[in-house]
Amino acid sequence: MNIPLVDLKAEYRVIKEEIDSAIKRVVESTNFVGGEELSGFESEFASYCGVKYGIATSSGSTALDLCLMALGIGKGDEVITTPNTFIATTEAITHVGAKIVFVDIDPDSYNIAPSQIEQKITSHTKAIIPVHLFGQPCDMDPILEVAKKHNLIVIEDAAQSHGAEYKGKRVGGFGDAAIFSFYPGKNIGAYGHAGIVVTNRSDIAERVKLLANHGRGQEKYDHLIEGYNYRPDTIQAAILRVKLKYLDDWNAKRRKNAEIYDSLLKGLPVITPKALPYVKHIYHLYVIRNKKRDELSNWLNSKGISTGIHYPIPLHLQPAYKYLGLGKNSFPVAEEFCSEALSIPMFPELKEEQIKLIVQEIKNFLG
Ligand SMILES: *Cc1c(COP(=O)(O)O)cnc(C)c1O
Repeated sequence: MNIPLVDLKAEYRVIKEEIDSAIKRVVESTNFVGGEELSGFESEFASYCGVKYGIATSSGSTALDLCLMALGIGKGDEVITTPNTFIATTEAITHVGAKIVFVDIDPDSYNIAPSQIEQKITSHTKAIIPVHLFGQPCDMDPILEVAKKHNLIVIEDAAQSHGAEYKGKRVGGFGDAAIFSFYPGKNIGAYGHAGIVVTNRSDIAERVKLLANHGRGQEKYDHLIEGYNYRPDTIQAAILRVKLKYLDDWNAKRRKNAEIYDSLLKGLPVITPKALPYVKHIYHLYVIRNKKRDELSNWLNSKGISTGIHYPIPLHLQPAYKYLGLGKNSFPVAEEFCSEALSIPMFPELKEEQIKLIVQEIKNFLG
């Protein structure tokens, strides 16, 4: 039996009729760009996050770019984030001409260690980008506190945490702005690329909207500023509107599957994910740790069980960031994590029998 890491076909089978008719609706209307379908999704997703404004974008990456631009982050500024994230987080910092400043991760949550942020703040620090990795929100209270104390912008990278909660509140509304990605494999994914910026600040919402659409004002050829073409296709919005109705149910199924994994893996020499007591983890990924990660991964793959590594190399050790001059041991917690992390199959449609089989193969490997 083959078990994939994520199974988008299984998801599609369940919602096929609704998706097909949503796509057909857009095609028949020939409104492929903008329109009510897009604005409808924007307000539905913003309200899902408990946030006032939503501006859909062509991807999570362009959403990050837009946020930093809209907040006036640029040359000479420093932006603090984690080395344990996808490169889009840091690319956005470089794209606006700012400098990346890394802070090591917390050994339990694998998110940025809030207690280590303040020592990295200088007179040039402008913003913090906490990344809610794998579906678990960062410990936001101390992050917001240090940001307030030093008058820093906070942009949540919530690309992996749609619907995750911190102290009973969904992520997306904690900072000045937040971004989400709808990359196909995310907890709610488009059928291609899409993303969104959400914010409670009307000034940021207006600026992002301008920048994302060629600086366009009220009229089509009325350009208030130079911008970009960073809006998504309307067809993606129509698909995402269908999927948004299922998101909570899908997240609940992921949490149930995580519970089954947790209980079956208990007592084995693998480290299972630790959800902090005040968060609702939505398990975008289920990441275990073992010293023999590569061998375990090969073993599972040879048994037809797909695995992933998120992420094999922390960003500061990537060739792209060699110029930062941060060698090995700069961020020991992140480095150790990256050498041991293994993502095992996690998706809503994953069945208990499949989880049992996966755990059995992990046991077989461990002997
Ligand atoms: C997926 C992801 C992004 C980028 O989103 P895209 O839609 O793929 O551009 C940014 N940050 C994190 C943490 C991600 O996981």
